[in-house]
Amino acid sequence: LEKMPEEARRMGSLLTQAGYRFWVVGGVVRDALLERLPTDWDFSTDAPVEALIRLLSPSFRVIPVGLRHGTVHVLTAHGAMEVTSWEGNGSQAVLDDLRRRDFTVNALAVSFPDGTLLDPFGGRRDLERRRLRGVDDPLARFREDPLRVLRASRFAATLGLHATPKTLRCLRQAAPWLQETATERVREELFKLLTGPWVVEGLELARRTGVLEVVIPELLEGYRKKQNHYHAHDIYHHTLYAVHHSPARIRVRLAALLHDIAKPRVRKKIRGVFRFFGHDKENAGMAQSILERWLVPKKLAEEVCILVANHMVHGTDCWKDGAVRRLIHRVGEPLLEDLLDLMAADRMAHGTEAAAGEESVERLRQRIARILAEKPALDLSALAVDGRDVMAALGIGPGPQVGRVLKRVHRIVLEDPAMNRRDVLLAWIREKGRDVSDE
Ligand code: ATP
Ligand code: MG
Repeated sequence: LEKMPEEARRMGSLLTQAGYRFWVVGGVVRDALLERLPTDWDFSTDAPVEALIRLLSPSFRVIPVGLRHGTVHVLTAHGAMEVTSWEGNGSQAVLDDLRRRDFTVNALAVSFPDGTLLDPFGGRRDLERRRLRGVDDPLARFREDPLRVLRASRFAATLGLHATPKTLRCLRQAAPWLQETATERVREELFKLLTGPWVVEGLELARRTGVLEVVIPELLEGYRKKQNHYHAHDIYHHTLYAVHHSPARIRVRLAALLHDIAKPRVRKKIRGVFRFFGHDKENAGMAQSILERWLVPKKLAEEVCILVANHMVHGTDCWKDGAVRRLIHRVGEPLLEDLLDLMAADRMAHGTEAAAGEESVERLRQRIARILAEKPALDLSALAVDGRDVMAALGIGPGPQVGRVLKRVHRIVLEDPAMNRRDVLLAWIREKGRDVSDE
């Protein structure tokens, strides 16, 4: 309770002074026991919802969000806090609340202001033993809301919990029901799973329970698909390790999850032997359709596809600076950090002489830093000439030829930054600008 925000304390006082009870419930209690920073605050009270609104309204903005369930949101500097009213006598109210929660570790409450822990299902012990157990009859609970099946994998990934045998059996049975759940809810849980520290365990639980089959069956196509001798793992496990070795940011983790997604579908004959050979374009294309299916916001989806489409660069040590500048231009400066992290994670996930590959990524990282410090002309606006110069030099009006010439000039400057001088570029345009055609 010490960590409770000031506003929550005030709510608690208003309700308890009026003779009602007030509890902190759910994930925040769990997080407090784990000494993790709480994300969102949820509360429960035995005040009828009318009394709840009447008591809190003078001090707070109260928004009735789910009056049928007796839930209101209270706006505070710490975001919207959820208060649910359970009419009933005393502790019975909070027991009714906890019974409706998904897993024992989430079915915890602390009463205000005395700080007594309410733990009717042994959630604290499960937390200590890193056990994930459904509340009451798990199968019935998963039937009520199949998202709970995915939440199980999410808690495996974020808290390092392991499902008990009975819960595991019920998860397996219930996984197909996940198809009925709204895509947005599935995506939110999936994103939390992917950024968890135990993401490999979370994805493995999702595979073993049948969640992957529903959410991303494409990933299972790589299961037990052997790769060439550079790889110690099959495509599926390589992918999981690539996610694990990426920093816990959703954009790069999505890219790691999808970086080889087309590989099991594409076999090519290389030196007489058939090998799996996902191409940048095929990987990015499949990544795009999966992200669309999950209704991922467009900008994020585009960025993930750019990462997937550009991560497979090899032999960068032999690249000329011009090639590095072209890569920077293609990917865009804000995505470079993620791209380099993805490349390094991909190499670490090989499980064989990965170190050499990692070092070359580090060298590329340093080269990119050096080249960026030289402030190269990364887009058309940084050129020493503009569209009007092109029109004047060639004696032409506005039209597609102006754009074509500018693009070509930009390519030349990326190759050789010393060319980015007005006199030099104007001379080049006068001489060759007429011959520039679509590339
Ligand atoms: P986070 O750290 O992401 O906030 P959380 O466990 O608090 O994790 P929320 O989605 O914020 O998860 O939900 C808050 C609480 O509400 C949970 O701890 C759980 O007790 C309960 N809860 C949430 N979703 C469900 C659900 N689908 N079924 C049952 N209980 C749920
Ligand atoms: Mg929460």
